Amino acid sequence: MNIKIALIAHDGKKPEMVSFVMNNRDFLEEATIYATGTTGSKIESEGFEVNSLLSGPLGGDAQIAALLATGQLDMVVFFRDPLDKHPHEPDVQMLMRLCDVHNIPLATNPKTAYYILQGISAVYPK
Ligand code: PGA
Repeated sequence: MNIKIALIAHDGKKPEMVSFVMNNRDFLEEATIYATGTTGSKIESEGFEVNSLLSGPLGGDAQIAALLATGQLDMVVFFRDPLDKHPHEPDVQMLMRLCDVHNIPLATNPKTAYYILQGISAVYPK
């Protein structure tokens, strides 16, 4: 199955996102990746193909929310920075709420993301 995954990281968490994609290269190379603008460019620099959307504060989180609400995503990884303020906090809350409305797995830290990937790989083996 082609997993469609959204990857988002606040600025303070972008290094963790880069580590996450490098550590899960085999899985992610088989997946279709969507990402907010700046996160997407960091992931692309690691050699991945990425469908990049707007930067988060300019509406990228809202675009990802629209994708998941219309059945176009299987999973969201959103490494939020809980120690910083974000002008687009309403969009962040909206995205997380819609994950729950539509029963979409949402990982907000690397360990949770790791376990969700393990679960998806077990349910949909290659
Ligand atoms: P960015 O957006 O990838 O464009 O930095 C992420 C966010 O802040 O939601």
